[in-house]
Amino acid sequence: MTWHVLGAGSLGSLWAARLARAGLPVSLILRDAARLAAYEAGGGLTLVENEHSTTYPIKASTAGTSGPIQRLLLACKAYDAEQAARSVAPHLAEGAQIILLQNGLGSQDAVAATLPGKNIILASSTEGAFRQDGFRVVFAGQGFTWLGRPNDPQPPVWLDDLQQAGITHAWTPDILSKLWRKLALNCAINPLTVLHDCRNGELQNWPQEVAALCDELVTLLLACDQQEAAIGLHEDVQRVIIATAANYSSMYQDVAQGRRSEVSYLLGYACNAARQYQVKIPALQSLHARLIAHLAAQGLPLG
Ligand code: NAP
Repeated sequence: MTWHVLGAGSLGSLWAARLARAGLPVSLILRDAARLAAYEAGGGLTLVENEHSTTYPIKASTAGTSGPIQRLLLACKAYDAEQAARSVAPHLAEGAQIILLQNGLGSQDAVAATLPGKNIILASSTEGAFRQDGFRVVFAGQGFTWLGRPNDPQPPVWLDDLQQAGITHAWTPDILSKLWRKLALNCAINPLTVLHDCRNGELQNWPQEVAALCDELVTLLLACDQQEAAIGLHEDVQRVIIATAANYSSMYQDVAQGRRSEVSYLLGYACNAARQYQVKIPALQSLHARLIAHLAAQGLPLG
């Protein structure tokens, strides 16, 4: 069965190249005819791994000419997911599986509402990749990908494809817990790196600010019935700050490069959830307000 990968950006290309390298059928879905023409002119997708680059001439199309799609990996940003899902909806086969790679929370519900009754699988990845230019992507950091459907313990047979492609993964019925935990880590680290204009490791200079955010995130996770995601959060945040000390967070990089960030699906989502569950989170709300003001001052989208 063909893997249709929508979005030949960083993570989509990383998946597509490894699936193709394993001899599995892959087809890219690109944004429009101009992107398709640029891709075809370049002769394929190039993956750079350990300073070694290989080009894979994976076939590609636009949403309008793709299909029927049995298996779709939606590999765009959270803010593009709903519109991207709508663009492929008419081409989805009966019983199609749709895997959502978006970070944060909120976009998954939007896609599910756009594709009612479809078989949707959620994913949370700690792999790292970035685009050098056009269709050339660097595999920057080994990681792990959790996949799952809430409360479904039965992994699908096609996980064997991921094994074959060397994509380190596991199935979990607790995928929402994984997504919440990653969201909480992101809320405690990424906005502060933007506001303090620093690498992750420099957050060791603001231990009280980090601790206050972690306390509120734990309260919020418990209110949202995410007990497991709350366990040892502060220690995990401190571990990540040290383990990734030399890195700039993804939000820092988005803002520094004048790109839209996924704040609405991370800190914005947390603040909305707190309002819904009537949880008091003054430090997180103040952080959100400061971040929004910073984005506005830079002329960047606020959502
Ligand atoms: P990215 O590099 O910006 O790639 C997104 C791709 O989606 C772009 O190529 C974009 O096309 C494409 N796209 C958007 N709308 C589309 C549409 N309607 N039809 C076809 N293509 C469309 O983003 P990314 O870094 O891969 O991130 C994807 C998700 O993975 C995010 O939620 C991110 O937080 C998460 N994630 C990323 C990493 C990482 O290391 N990169 C790690 C963990 C999680 P254009 O090129 O035409 O704009």
